[in-house]
Amino acid sequence: MPKKVIIIGAGIAGLSAGCYLQMNGYDTEIFEMHSLPGGLCTSWSRSGYTFDGCLHWVVGSTPSDNLFNLWNELIDMKKIEWVEFDYHSVYSDSDGKTITFYNDIEKLKKELLEKAPEDKVTLNGFLKAVKKFSKFSAPSDKAPETSGFWDGIKMFSKILPYISRYKKWINLSINEFAGFLRNDALRKSFSVHPVEDMSAFFIVMMHAWMNKKSAGYPLGGSLKFSQLIEKKYLELGGRINYRQKVTKINVKNKTACGIQTESGDEHKADIVISAADGHYTIYKMLEGNFKDKKTDKIYKSFETFPSYVQVSLGVNHDFSGIPHMLKFPLGKKLKLDEETEYDNMFVRIFNFDRTMAPPGKTSMYTLFATRNSSYWEYLRKNDKVRYQSEKDRIAGEVIEAIDKKIGNVKANVEEIDVSTPATVIRYTNNWKGSYEGWIPSGQTGIMGLKKTIKGLENFYMIGQWIEVGGGVPSALMSGRNVTQIICKKDKRKFSTTHY
Ligand SMILES: Cc1cc2nc3c(=O)[nH]c(=O)nc-3n(C[C@H](O)[C@H](O)[C@H](O)COP(=O)(O)OP(=O)(O)OC[C@H]3O[C@@H](n4cnc5c(N)ncnc54)[C@H](O)[C@@H]3O)c2cc1C
Repeated sequence: MPKKVIIIGAGIAGLSAGCYLQMNGYDTEIFEMHSLPGGLCTSWSRSGYTFDGCLHWVVGSTPSDNLFNLWNELIDMKKIEWVEFDYHSVYSDSDGKTITFYNDIEKLKKELLEKAPEDKVTLNGFLKAVKKFSKFSAPSDKAPETSGFWDGIKMFSKILPYISRYKKWINLSINEFAGFLRNDALRKSFSVHPVEDMSAFFIVMMHAWMNKKSAGYPLGGSLKFSQLIEKKYLELGGRINYRQKVTKINVKNKTACGIQTESGDEHKADIVISAADGHYTIYKMLEGNFKDKKTDKIYKSFETFPSYVQVSLGVNHDFSGIPHMLKFPLGKKLKLDEETEYDNMFVRIFNFDRTMAPPGKTSMYTLFATRNSSYWEYLRKNDKVRYQSEKDRIAGEVIEAIDKKIGNVKANVEEIDVSTPATVIRYTNNWKGSYEGWIPSGQTGIMGLKKTIKGLENFYMIGQWIEVGGGVPSALMSGRNVTQIICKKDKRKFSTTHY
Protein backbone atom coordinates (compact mmCIF):
# COMPACT_ATOMS: atom_id res chain seq x y z
CA MET A 1 0.00 0.00 0.00
CA PRO A 2 1.44 3.42 -0.91
CA LYS A 3 1.83 5.88 1.95
CA LYS A 4 -1.04 8.35 2.26
CA VAL A 5 -0.04 12.03 2.27
CA ILE A 6 -2.46 14.85 3.05
CA ILE A 7 -1.47 18.25 1.74
CA ILE A 8 -3.11 21.39 3.13
CA GLY A 9 -3.49 24.07 0.44
CA ALA A 10 -3.69 23.97 -3.35
CA GLY A 11 -1.43 26.97 -3.96
CA ILE A 12 1.59 26.44 -6.23
CA ALA A 13 3.56 24.83 -3.38
CA GLY A 14 0.78 22.37 -2.46
CA LEU A 15 0.09 21.45 -6.08
CA SER A 16 3.79 21.03 -6.76
CA ALA A 17 4.26 18.73 -3.73
CA GLY A 18 1.21 16.77 -4.85
CA CYS A 19 2.58 16.26 -8.38
CA TYR A 20 6.06 15.17 -7.27
CA LEU A 21 4.73 12.84 -4.57
CA GLN A 22 2.36 11.23 -7.08
CA MET A 23 5.31 10.81 -9.46
CA ASN A 24 7.11 8.98 -6.67
CA GLY A 25 4.39 6.52 -5.80
CA TYR A 26 2.66 8.26 -2.88
CA ASP A 27 -1.11 8.47 -2.53
CA THR A 28 -1.91 12.14 -2.01
CA GLU A 29 -4.98 14.21 -1.33
CA ILE A 30 -5.15 18.00 -1.12
CA PHE A 31 -7.55 19.94 1.12
CA GLU A 32 -8.11 23.50 -0.07
CA MET A 33 -10.37 26.07 1.59
CA HIS A 34 -11.10 28.00 -1.63
CA SER A 35 -13.03 26.70 -4.65
CA LEU A 36 -10.08 27.12 -7.03
CA PRO A 37 -6.41 26.15 -7.29
CA GLY A 38 -3.50 28.61 -7.19
CA GLY A 39 -3.83 30.43 -3.85
CA LEU A 40 -2.27 33.84 -4.45
CA CYS A 41 -1.48 32.87 -8.04
CA THR A 42 -4.95 33.69 -9.28
CA SER A 43 -7.21 35.78 -11.50
CA TRP A 44 -10.95 36.45 -11.45
CA SER A 45 -13.60 37.31 -14.01
CA ARG A 46 -16.06 40.19 -14.03
CA SER A 47 -18.46 40.82 -16.94
CA GLY A 48 -16.13 39.51 -19.63
CA TYR A 49 -12.97 41.05 -18.13
CA THR A 50 -10.30 39.01 -16.35
CA PHE A 51 -8.49 40.74 -13.51
CA ASP A 52 -5.13 39.29 -12.61
CA GLY A 53 -3.92 39.08 -9.03
CA CYS A 54 -0.40 37.84 -9.42
CA LEU A 55 2.09 37.05 -12.15
CA HIS A 56 4.22 39.82 -13.56
CA TRP A 57 6.82 37.24 -14.41
CA VAL A 58 7.66 33.58 -13.97
CA VAL A 59 11.38 33.07 -13.44
CA GLY A 60 12.50 30.12 -15.55
CA SER A 61 10.55 30.97 -18.69
CA THR A 62 13.57 30.41 -20.93
CA PRO A 63 15.14 26.97 -21.66
CA SER A 64 18.63 28.24 -20.74
CA ASP A 65 17.52 28.66 -17.10
CA ASN A 66 17.73 25.64 -14.72
CA LEU A 67 14.26 26.47 -13.49
CA PHE A 68 12.78 25.94 -16.96
CA ASN A 69 13.49 22.21 -16.66
CA LEU A 70 11.76 22.08 -13.28
CA TRP A 71 8.66 23.89 -14.57
CA ASN A 72 8.69 21.52 -17.52
CA GLU A 73 8.19 18.62 -15.11
CA LEU A 74 4.78 20.08 -14.24
CA ILE A 75 3.76 22.09 -17.27
CA ASP A 76 4.40 21.70 -20.96
CA MET A 77 6.39 24.91 -21.13
CA LYS A 78 6.50 24.96 -24.92
CA LYS A 79 2.72 25.16 -25.03
CA ILE A 80 2.66 28.38 -23.01
CA GLU A 81 2.82 31.59 -24.98
CA TRP A 82 5.41 33.63 -23.08
CA VAL A 83 5.39 37.39 -23.37
CA GLU A 84 8.95 38.69 -23.06
CA PHE A 85 8.75 42.44 -22.63
CA ASP A 86 11.22 44.89 -24.10
CA TYR A 87 10.99 46.95 -20.92
CA HIS A 88 9.80 46.39 -17.37
CA SER A 89 8.20 49.80 -16.80
CA VAL A 90 8.11 53.42 -17.84
CA TYR A 91 8.26 56.25 -15.31
CA SER A 92 6.64 59.45 -16.48
CA ASP A 93 6.34 62.62 -14.39
CA SER A 94 4.13 65.68 -14.80
CA ASP A 95 6.98 67.70 -16.39
CA GLY A 96 7.10 65.21 -19.27
CA LYS A 97 10.30 63.49 -18.09
CA THR A 98 10.27 59.78 -18.82
CA ILE A 99 12.59 56.95 -17.89
CA THR A 100 12.21 53.55 -19.51
CA PHE A 101 13.45 50.58 -17.52
CA TYR A 102 14.56 48.38 -20.39
CA ASN A 103 15.11 44.70 -19.80
CA ASP A 104 18.25 44.53 -21.90
CA ILE A 105 21.12 45.71 -19.72
CA GLU A 106 22.91 47.67 -22.47
CA LYS A 107 19.72 49.53 -23.40
CA LEU A 108 19.03 50.14 -19.72
CA LYS A 109 22.53 51.49 -19.19
CA LYS A 110 22.23 53.87 -22.15
CA GLU A 111 18.82 55.10 -20.98
CA LEU A 112 19.75 55.62 -17.34
CA LEU A 113 23.10 57.30 -18.01
CA GLU A 114 21.53 59.54 -20.63
CA LYS A 115 18.67 60.58 -18.34
CA ALA A 116 20.73 60.88 -15.15
CA PRO A 117 24.42 61.45 -15.99
CA GLU A 118 24.96 62.99 -12.54
CA ASP A 119 24.31 59.55 -11.02
CA LYS A 120 26.91 57.74 -13.13
CA VAL A 121 28.85 56.26 -10.21
CA THR A 122 25.80 54.93 -8.34
CA LEU A 123 24.22 53.66 -11.55
CA ASN A 124 27.37 51.88 -12.65
CA GLY A 125 27.45 49.99 -9.34
CA PHE A 126 23.80 49.00 -9.81
CA LEU A 127 24.27 47.99 -13.45
CA LYS A 128 27.39 45.95 -12.65
CA ALA A 129 25.41 44.03 -10.01
CA VAL A 130 22.58 43.38 -12.51
CA LYS A 131 25.11 42.14 -15.07
CA LYS A 132 26.80 39.91 -12.53
CA PHE A 133 23.56 38.33 -11.29
CA SER A 134 22.37 37.83 -14.89
CA LYS A 135 24.87 34.93 -14.95
CA PHE A 136 23.38 33.39 -11.82
CA SER A 137 21.19 30.32 -12.19
CA ALA A 138 19.33 28.69 -9.28
CA PRO A 139 21.97 26.35 -7.83
CA SER A 140 20.64 22.83 -8.24
CA ASP A 141 17.71 20.54 -8.68
CA LYS A 142 18.76 18.67 -5.53
CA ALA A 143 17.10 19.69 -2.26
CA PRO A 144 19.66 21.32 0.07
CA GLU A 145 18.18 19.17 2.88
CA THR A 146 19.18 15.97 1.08
CA SER A 147 22.55 17.23 -0.11
CA GLY A 148 25.75 15.71 1.15
CA PHE A 149 29.14 17.28 1.85
CA TRP A 150 30.28 17.34 -1.79
CA ASP A 151 26.93 18.71 -2.98
CA GLY A 152 27.39 21.49 -0.43
CA ILE A 153 30.90 22.23 -1.72
CA LYS A 154 29.62 22.27 -5.30
CA MET A 155 26.78 24.61 -4.40
CA PHE A 156 29.07 26.85 -2.38
CA SER A 157 31.51 27.13 -5.29
CA LYS A 158 28.60 28.19 -7.51
CA ILE A 159 27.42 30.93 -5.18
CA LEU A 160 30.87 32.06 -3.99
CA PRO A 161 31.43 34.56 -6.85
CA TYR A 162 28.19 36.32 -5.89
CA ILE A 163 28.50 36.50 -2.11
CA SER A 164 30.21 39.89 -1.68
CA ARG A 165 27.79 41.66 -4.04
CA TYR A 166 24.86 39.82 -2.45
CA LYS A 167 25.91 41.05 1.00
CA LYS A 168 26.17 44.61 -0.25
CA TRP A 169 22.74 44.69 -1.90
CA ILE A 170 20.76 42.59 0.60
CA ASN A 171 21.61 45.06 3.37
CA LEU A 172 20.53 48.11 1.39
CA SER A 173 16.84 49.03 1.16
CA ILE A 174 15.24 50.32 -2.04
CA ASN A 175 14.63 53.60 -0.20
CA GLU A 176 18.27 53.90 0.83
CA PHE A 177 19.42 53.14 -2.69
CA ALA A 178 17.02 55.74 -4.10
CA GLY A 179 18.42 58.19 -1.55
CA PHE A 180 21.87 57.97 -3.21
CA LEU A 181 20.43 59.20 -6.51
CA ARG A 182 20.69 62.90 -7.26
CA ASN A 183 18.44 62.97 -10.31
CA ASP A 184 14.96 63.78 -9.04
CA ALA A 185 12.99 61.77 -11.64
CA LEU A 186 15.26 58.75 -11.30
CA ARG A 187 15.06 58.81 -7.51
CA LYS A 188 11.27 59.02 -7.62
CA SER A 189 11.06 56.29 -10.24
CA PHE A 190 12.83 53.84 -7.90
CA SER A 191 10.50 54.87 -5.08
CA VAL A 192 7.39 53.67 -6.97
CA HIS A 193 7.53 50.23 -5.42
CA PRO A 194 4.98 48.52 -3.20
CA VAL A 195 7.65 47.89 -0.54
CA GLU A 196 10.15 50.73 -0.42
CA ASP A 197 11.84 49.39 2.70
CA MET A 198 12.55 46.08 0.96
CA SER A 199 16.10 45.11 0.10
CA ALA A 200 17.44 46.63 -3.12
CA PHE A 201 18.77 43.13 -3.91
CA PHE A 202 15.26 42.38 -5.15
CA ILE A 203 15.49 45.16 -7.78
CA VAL A 204 18.92 43.89 -8.83
CA MET A 205 17.62 40.33 -9.23
CA MET A 206 14.49 41.47 -11.04
CA HIS A 207 16.56 43.32 -13.65
CA ALA A 208 18.97 40.36 -13.87
CA TRP A 209 16.11 37.95 -14.66
CA MET A 210 14.66 40.41 -17.16
CA ASN A 211 18.06 40.92 -18.78
CA LYS A 212 18.56 37.20 -19.35
CA LYS A 213 15.00 36.93 -20.66
CA SER A 214 14.09 34.41 -18.02
CA ALA A 215 11.10 36.21 -16.55
CA GLY A 216 8.28 35.95 -19.07
CA TYR A 217 4.59 36.49 -18.52
CA PRO A 218 2.37 33.49 -19.40
CA LEU A 219 -0.37 34.64 -21.75
CA GLY A 220 -3.79 34.04 -20.18
CA GLY A 221 -2.72 35.08 -16.69
CA SER A 222 -2.19 33.59 -13.27
CA LEU A 223 -5.23 31.36 -12.74
CA LYS A 224 -4.72 29.73 -16.13
CA PHE A 225 -1.10 29.04 -15.13
CA SER A 226 -2.17 27.50 -11.79
CA GLN A 227 -4.81 25.40 -13.53
CA LEU A 228 -2.13 23.83 -15.74
CA ILE A 229 -0.42 22.48 -12.60
CA GLU A 230 -3.79 21.41 -11.15
CA LYS A 231 -4.45 19.50 -14.41
CA LYS A 232 -1.09 17.75 -14.14
CA TYR A 233 -1.80 16.80 -10.52
CA LEU A 234 -5.19 15.31 -11.38
CA GLU A 235 -3.70 13.42 -14.36
CA LEU A 236 -1.13 11.93 -11.98
CA GLY A 237 -4.01 10.55 -9.89
CA GLY A 238 -4.13 13.19 -7.17
CA ARG A 239 -7.38 14.34 -5.56
CA ILE A 240 -8.37 17.84 -4.48
CA ASN A 241 -11.11 18.60 -1.97
CA TYR A 242 -12.16 22.21 -2.53
CA ARG A 243 -14.04 24.35 0.03
CA GLN A 244 -12.52 22.27 2.85
CA LYS A 245 -10.74 24.44 5.36
CA VAL A 246 -8.41 22.49 7.62
CA THR A 247 -8.67 23.65 11.22
CA LYS A 248 -6.54 21.08 13.03
CA ILE A 249 -3.61 18.78 12.36
CA ASN A 250 -4.16 15.61 14.34
CA VAL A 251 -1.15 14.42 16.31
CA LYS A 252 -0.70 11.13 18.17
CA ASN A 253 2.49 10.21 20.03
CA LYS A 254 4.26 13.28 18.64
CA THR A 255 3.48 12.09 15.10
CA ALA A 256 1.14 13.82 12.63
CA CYS A 257 -1.57 11.35 11.70
CA GLY A 258 -4.23 13.34 9.86
CA ILE A 259 -6.34 16.46 9.75
CA GLN A 260 -9.67 17.84 10.82
CA THR A 261 -11.71 20.17 8.63
CA GLU A 262 -13.99 23.05 9.60
CA SER A 263 -17.02 20.81 9.19
CA GLY A 264 -15.55 18.44 11.81
CA ASP A 265 -14.60 15.65 9.40
CA GLU A 266 -11.39 13.79 10.20
CA HIS A 267 -9.04 12.33 7.60
CA LYS A 268 -6.16 10.00 8.38
CA ALA A 269 -2.73 10.14 6.78
CA ASP A 270 0.78 8.72 7.18
CA ILE A 271 2.30 12.12 6.40
CA VAL A 272 0.83 15.64 6.60
CA ILE A 273 2.26 18.58 4.67
CA SER A 274 1.07 22.12 5.30
CA ALA A 275 1.41 24.25 2.17
CA ALA A 276 -0.84 26.83 3.84
CA ASP A 277 -0.06 29.97 5.81
CA GLY A 278 2.81 29.46 8.28
CA HIS A 279 1.33 31.39 11.21
CA TYR A 280 -2.01 29.58 10.95
CA THR A 281 -0.21 26.24 10.70
CA ILE A 282 1.91 26.70 13.82
CA TYR A 283 -0.41 28.66 16.08
CA LYS A 284 -3.85 27.39 14.99
CA MET A 285 -3.71 24.02 13.22
CA LEU A 286 -0.98 22.77 15.58
CA GLU A 287 -2.45 24.82 18.43
CA GLY A 288 0.96 26.26 19.32
CA ASN A 289 1.97 22.88 20.75
CA PHE A 290 5.12 22.55 18.67
CA LYS A 291 6.48 26.06 18.67
CA ASP A 292 9.73 26.86 20.35
CA LYS A 293 11.54 30.10 21.22
CA LYS A 294 13.11 30.27 17.78
CA THR A 295 9.76 29.98 16.00
CA ASP A 296 8.21 32.64 18.23
CA LYS A 297 11.17 34.91 17.52
CA ILE A 298 10.80 34.44 13.77
CA TYR A 299 7.07 35.23 13.84
CA LYS A 300 7.69 38.25 16.06
CA SER A 301 10.74 39.74 14.37
CA PHE A 302 10.93 38.76 10.69
CA GLU A 303 9.30 41.32 8.47
CA THR A 304 6.52 40.15 6.17
CA PHE A 305 5.67 41.44 2.74
CA PRO A 306 2.75 43.79 3.28
CA SER A 307 -0.81 43.31 2.16
CA TYR A 308 -2.42 45.49 -0.51
CA VAL A 309 -5.48 47.17 -1.90
CA GLN A 310 -5.91 46.30 -5.57
CA VAL A 311 -8.11 48.36 -7.87
CA SER A 312 -8.90 46.57 -11.15
CA LEU A 313 -10.68 48.27 -14.01
CA GLY A 314 -12.36 46.99 -17.15
CA VAL A 315 -12.26 49.79 -19.70
CA ASN A 316 -14.01 49.95 -23.06
CA HIS A 317 -10.96 51.33 -24.88
CA ASP A 318 -8.00 49.76 -26.68
CA PHE A 319 -4.95 51.49 -25.08
CA SER A 320 -2.50 50.06 -27.63
CA GLY A 321 0.81 51.90 -27.54
CA ILE A 322 0.52 52.95 -23.87
CA PRO A 323 3.29 51.44 -21.69
CA HIS A 324 2.09 48.17 -20.15
CA MET A 325 3.55 49.23 -16.81
CA LEU A 326 3.35 52.94 -16.20
CA LYS A 327 4.62 54.59 -13.03
CA PHE A 328 3.85 58.19 -12.22
CA PRO A 329 3.64 60.71 -9.36
CA LEU A 330 0.18 61.72 -8.10
CA GLY A 331 -0.80 65.39 -8.16
CA LYS A 332 -2.72 64.89 -4.93
CA LYS A 333 -1.79 62.39 -2.22
CA LEU A 334 -3.94 59.27 -2.07
CA LYS A 335 -4.94 58.26 1.43
CA LEU A 336 -5.29 54.50 1.50
CA ASP A 337 -6.13 53.99 5.16
CA GLU A 338 -5.42 55.54 8.55
CA GLU A 339 -1.70 54.69 8.35
CA THR A 340 -0.97 54.71 4.66
CA GLU A 341 -0.80 57.33 1.93
CA TYR A 342 0.81 57.54 -1.48
CA ASP A 343 2.20 60.29 -3.67
CA ASN A 344 2.91 57.98 -6.62
CA MET A 345 1.38 54.94 -8.25
CA PHE A 346 1.70 52.45 -11.09
CA VAL A 347 -0.85 51.07 -13.48
CA ARG A 348 -0.48 47.74 -15.23
CA ILE A 349 -2.30 47.82 -18.56
CA PHE A 350 -3.04 44.42 -20.10
CA ASN A 351 -2.69 45.63 -23.69
CA PHE A 352 -0.15 42.79 -24.09
CA ASP A 353 -2.69 40.10 -23.18
CA ARG A 354 -5.88 40.48 -25.16
CA THR A 355 -7.35 37.32 -23.57
CA MET A 356 -8.03 39.43 -20.47
CA ALA A 357 -10.80 41.55 -22.01
CA PRO A 358 -13.39 41.46 -24.81
CA PRO A 359 -12.16 42.72 -28.22
CA GLY A 360 -11.27 46.42 -28.27
CA LYS A 361 -11.42 46.63 -24.46
CA THR A 362 -8.69 46.49 -21.82
CA SER A 363 -8.23 45.21 -18.33
CA MET A 364 -5.89 47.15 -16.02
CA TYR A 365 -5.05 47.39 -12.35
CA THR A 366 -3.02 49.14 -9.73
CA LEU A 367 -2.21 48.15 -6.21
CA PHE A 368 -1.08 49.94 -3.08
CA ALA A 369 0.70 48.13 -0.29
CA THR A 370 -0.48 48.53 3.29
CA ARG A 371 0.61 47.10 6.62
CA ASN A 372 -2.76 47.99 8.09
CA SER A 373 -4.57 44.73 7.29
CA SER A 374 -6.36 44.73 10.66
CA TYR A 375 -8.09 48.02 9.75
CA TRP A 376 -9.53 46.48 6.57
CA GLU A 377 -10.51 43.29 8.38
CA TYR A 378 -12.19 45.34 11.09
CA LEU A 379 -14.15 47.43 8.58
CA ARG A 380 -15.31 44.43 6.60
CA LYS A 381 -16.49 42.68 9.75
CA ASN A 382 -17.96 45.57 11.70
CA ASP A 383 -18.83 48.36 9.30
CA LYS A 384 -19.76 47.04 5.87
CA VAL A 385 -21.13 50.45 4.76
CA ARG A 386 -17.84 52.23 5.47
CA TYR A 387 -15.87 49.31 4.03
CA GLN A 388 -17.74 49.71 0.74
CA SER A 389 -17.56 53.51 0.76
CA GLU A 390 -13.79 53.43 1.37
CA LYS A 391 -13.36 51.01 -1.53
CA ASP A 392 -15.49 53.30 -3.72
CA ARG A 393 -13.52 56.37 -2.66
CA ILE A 394 -10.17 54.75 -3.48
CA ALA A 395 -11.46 53.45 -6.82
CA GLY A 396 -12.74 56.95 -7.66
CA GLU A 397 -9.38 58.58 -6.90
CA VAL A 398 -7.53 55.90 -8.87
CA ILE A 399 -9.78 56.35 -11.90
CA GLU A 400 -9.25 60.15 -11.77
CA ALA A 401 -5.48 59.71 -11.53
CA ILE A 402 -5.16 57.22 -14.40
CA ASP A 403 -7.57 59.21 -16.53
CA LYS A 404 -5.49 62.35 -15.98
CA LYS A 405 -2.37 60.45 -17.00
CA ILE A 406 -3.49 58.51 -20.07
CA GLY A 407 -7.06 59.64 -20.81
CA ASN A 408 -10.03 57.56 -22.04
CA VAL A 409 -10.53 55.85 -18.69
CA LYS A 410 -13.19 57.75 -16.75
CA ALA A 411 -15.71 57.89 -19.59
CA ASN A 412 -15.18 54.26 -20.57
CA VAL A 413 -14.95 52.32 -17.30
CA GLU A 414 -17.36 49.39 -17.42
CA GLU A 415 -16.17 47.32 -14.50
CA ILE A 416 -14.55 48.25 -11.17
CA ASP A 417 -13.27 45.70 -8.70
CA VAL A 418 -11.54 46.58 -5.43
CA SER A 419 -9.91 43.93 -3.27
CA THR A 420 -8.46 44.70 0.16
CA PRO A 421 -6.28 42.87 2.69
CA ALA A 422 -9.55 41.42 4.06
CA THR A 423 -10.16 39.87 0.62
CA VAL A 424 -6.65 38.36 0.52
CA ILE A 425 -7.14 36.84 3.97
CA ARG A 426 -10.63 35.55 3.11
CA TYR A 427 -9.45 33.80 -0.05
CA THR A 428 -5.93 32.65 0.86
CA ASN A 429 -5.67 32.78 4.67
CA ASN A 430 -2.26 34.43 4.42
CA TRP A 431 -1.14 36.02 7.67
CA LYS A 432 -1.82 39.77 7.70
CA GLY A 433 -2.86 39.41 4.04
CA SER A 434 0.82 39.26 3.08
CA TYR A 435 1.42 38.87 -0.63
CA GLU A 436 4.69 36.95 -0.48
CA GLY A 437 5.58 35.78 3.04
CA TRP A 438 8.91 36.88 4.53
CA ILE A 439 10.83 39.82 3.10
CA PRO A 440 14.43 38.79 2.42
CA SER A 441 16.85 40.82 4.51
CA GLY A 442 20.22 40.51 6.20
CA GLN A 443 18.36 38.97 9.16
CA THR A 444 16.43 36.32 7.20
CA GLY A 445 19.07 35.42 4.61
CA ILE A 446 17.74 33.63 1.55
CA MET A 447 18.18 30.01 2.54
CA GLY A 448 14.69 29.55 3.96
CA LEU A 449 13.30 28.04 7.15
CA LYS A 450 13.24 24.40 8.14
CA LYS A 451 10.50 22.27 6.60
CA THR A 452 10.36 20.02 9.65
CA ILE A 453 9.39 20.81 13.24
CA LYS A 454 11.46 19.45 16.11
CA GLY A 455 9.48 16.92 18.14
CA LEU A 456 6.84 16.29 15.48
CA GLU A 457 7.27 13.32 13.16
CA ASN A 458 5.78 12.87 9.69
CA PHE A 459 4.97 16.54 9.32
CA TYR A 460 6.39 19.11 6.88
CA MET A 461 5.81 22.76 6.04
CA ILE A 462 6.36 24.22 2.58
CA GLY A 463 5.56 27.32 0.52
CA GLN A 464 6.17 31.01 0.85
CA TRP A 465 6.33 30.98 4.67
CA ILE A 466 9.28 28.59 4.48
CA GLU A 467 11.04 29.86 1.37
CA VAL A 468 12.07 33.41 2.27
CA GLY A 469 11.17 35.85 -0.50
CA GLY A 470 8.29 33.76 -1.81
CA GLY A 471 7.43 33.68 -5.50
CA VAL A 472 6.11 30.89 -7.67
CA PRO A 473 9.52 29.31 -8.47
CA SER A 474 10.23 29.00 -4.73
CA ALA A 475 6.81 27.42 -4.24
CA LEU A 476 7.56 24.92 -7.02
CA MET A 477 10.97 24.09 -5.52
CA SER A 478 9.49 23.83 -2.03
CA GLY A 479 7.08 21.10 -3.18
CA ARG A 480 9.82 19.35 -5.14
CA ASN A 481 12.34 19.52 -2.30
CA VAL A 482 9.96 18.17 0.34
CA THR A 483 9.30 15.19 -1.91
CA GLN A 484 13.05 14.53 -2.07
CA ILE A 485 13.24 14.72 1.73
CA ILE A 486 10.35 12.24 2.10
CA CYS A 487 11.79 9.90 -0.54
CA LYS A 488 15.18 9.94 1.15
CA LYS A 489 13.61 9.12 4.51
CA ASP A 490 11.71 6.22 2.89
CA LYS A 491 14.87 5.09 1.03
CA ARG A 492 13.22 5.64 -2.35
CA LYS A 493 15.00 7.04 -5.37
CA PHE A 494 13.44 10.42 -6.24
CA SER A 495 12.31 10.50 -9.84
CA THR A 496 10.35 12.83 -12.07
CA THR A 497 8.73 12.85 -15.46
CA HIS A 498 8.90 15.79 -17.82
CA TYR A 499 7.37 17.09 -21.03
C1 LIG B 1 -0.05 40.84 -6.32
C2 LIG B 1 0.96 39.74 -6.34
C3 LIG B 1 1.92 39.69 -7.34
C4 LIG B 1 2.84 38.65 -7.38
N1 LIG B 1 3.70 38.59 -8.42
C5 LIG B 1 4.51 37.53 -8.53
C6 LIG B 1 5.31 37.36 -9.70
O1 LIG B 1 5.25 38.15 -10.65
N2 LIG B 1 6.15 36.29 -9.75
C7 LIG B 1 6.24 35.39 -8.73
O2 LIG B 1 7.03 34.45 -8.84
N3 LIG B 1 5.49 35.53 -7.62
C8 LIG B 1 4.62 36.55 -7.49
N4 LIG B 1 3.82 36.68 -6.39
C9 LIG B 1 4.03 35.77 -5.23
C10 LIG B 1 3.45 34.39 -5.44
O3 LIG B 1 2.13 34.47 -5.92
C11 LIG B 1 3.43 33.63 -4.12
O4 LIG B 1 4.65 33.75 -3.42
C12 LIG B 1 3.16 32.12 -4.34
O5 LIG B 1 2.07 31.96 -5.21
C13 LIG B 1 2.90 31.47 -2.99
O6 LIG B 1 2.47 30.14 -3.18
P1 LIG B 1 2.18 29.21 -1.94
O7 LIG B 1 1.62 27.95 -2.49
O8 LIG B 1 3.38 29.12 -1.07
O9 LIG B 1 1.09 29.98 -1.06
P2 LIG B 1 -0.41 30.43 -1.35
O10 LIG B 1 -0.57 30.89 -2.74
O11 LIG B 1 -0.80 31.35 -0.26
O12 LIG B 1 -1.24 29.08 -1.22
C14 LIG B 1 -1.69 28.59 0.01
C15 LIG B 1 -2.99 27.85 -0.23
O13 LIG B 1 -3.42 27.27 0.98
C16 LIG B 1 -4.82 27.48 1.15
N5 LIG B 1 -5.09 27.44 2.58
C17 LIG B 1 -4.64 28.30 3.52
N6 LIG B 1 -5.07 27.91 4.74
C18 LIG B 1 -5.79 26.78 4.55
C19 LIG B 1 -6.48 25.91 5.43
N7 LIG B 1 -6.51 26.12 6.74
N8 LIG B 1 -7.13 24.84 4.91
C20 LIG B 1 -7.12 24.62 3.56
N9 LIG B 1 -6.47 25.42 2.68
C21 LIG B 1 -5.81 26.47 3.18
C22 LIG B 1 -5.05 28.83 0.53
O14 LIG B 1 -6.41 29.01 0.18
C23 LIG B 1 -4.12 28.77 -0.68
O15 LIG B 1 -4.77 28.21 -1.80
C24 LIG B 1 2.85 37.67 -6.35
C25 LIG B 1 1.87 37.70 -5.36
C26 LIG B 1 0.92 38.70 -5.36
C27 LIG B 1 -0.18 38.66 -4.34
